[in-house]
Amino acid sequence: MSSDRTLLPLSQATRPFYAGIDLGGTNIKAALLDDLGRIVAFHTEPTHAARGPEDAAARIGRAVHTLAGRAGIATADVARVGLGSPGPLDIPAGTIVRAGNLPGWDDFPLRDRVAAHTGRDVTFANDANAAGYGEYWVGSARGSSSLVLLTLGTGVGGGIIIGDVNVEGAHSHGSECGHIIVDPAPTARVCPCGQLGHLEAYTSATSLKALAAEALAAGGTGSLAAAVAAGEELTPVVIAREAGAGDALAMGVLMEAARWLGIGIVTFMHTIDPEAVVIGGAMTFGREEHPVGRAFLERVREEVRRRTFPVLARRTSIRYASLGGDAGSIGAAGLARLDHRRQP
Ligand SMILES: [Zn+2]
Repeated sequence: MSSDRTLLPLSQATRPFYAGIDLGGTNIKAALLDDLGRIVAFHTEPTHAARGPEDAAARIGRAVHTLAGRAGIATADVARVGLGSPGPLDIPAGTIVRAGNLPGWDDFPLRDRVAAHTGRDVTFANDANAAGYGEYWVGSARGSSSLVLLTLGTGVGGGIIIGDVNVEGAHSHGSECGHIIVDPAPTARVCPCGQLGHLEAYTSATSLKALAAEALAAGGTGSLAAAVAAGEELTPVVIAREAGAGDALAMGVLMEAARWLGIGIVTFMHTIDPEAVVIGGAMTFGREEHPVGRAFLERVREEVRRRTFPVLARRTSIRYASLGGDAGSIGAAGLARLDHRRQP
């Protein structure tokens, strides 16, 4: 996706520039943006998480220098760096508290080491909050006054943006949208965080696979069952493919995940009343352009309409994200811009 994006020529860019970093377990994605949120340069490299956080901090530093070089500016012309990281974080301290896919990185002073390697001040943010700000600033919710972003992937990430405020919370655990309780029953599904009944246990890629595996184990038949019996791995892509081909079991588990997502979304609508709710991440099933993506989104909307106030059902926009895998780096740059503009 990154490589397809059209880059803005430097001659047309509006200063100052901001670098945004999306730190993942597999890749470090870096983008250089101008003041209007337009992309001037991109760079991606492997995280090499096992080499440890100091090595990664040094490579993030080099990535910022690389971005500047590609754009034809000096690193000193980068006003600020935004760093989006998997959480949970201690944002005031600039550290990762407990990162599932970055073992051994806990309590490392990541923000300050990236600042040392780049020579620039660094804004530190949760990766899903950064993606939320990207969609709010220049993505699917551009022009909206507030947004809740839910990213459906291995887990369920969340970002809440209200005006130009990124809701981080008093203890860096604001916007942990995947961990709201949707099922308080003692028989509820177990979330990867260990607690019962959280949204992530019902509507992530992991939970979709679990729902499908349970339906197959209960004797479900059809084309998905045949594909799995023939040795295909049960993945969201395969489930969506068979749902698109008319398999009732596959479509049924997708609709079940959508139903739970709708239930979760109502809670955000009734606490925040955002102008837009945006669904992103890997599990968007071809978005509105694909029949399965349309069916999933319509099932979410249907559940919301059933459970919310009429005015919210009419006016709250529920849609897919538009920035794809670049939302995190774009939004991290946007959050750096907010901090830069707040400086006296
Ligand atoms: Zn949880």
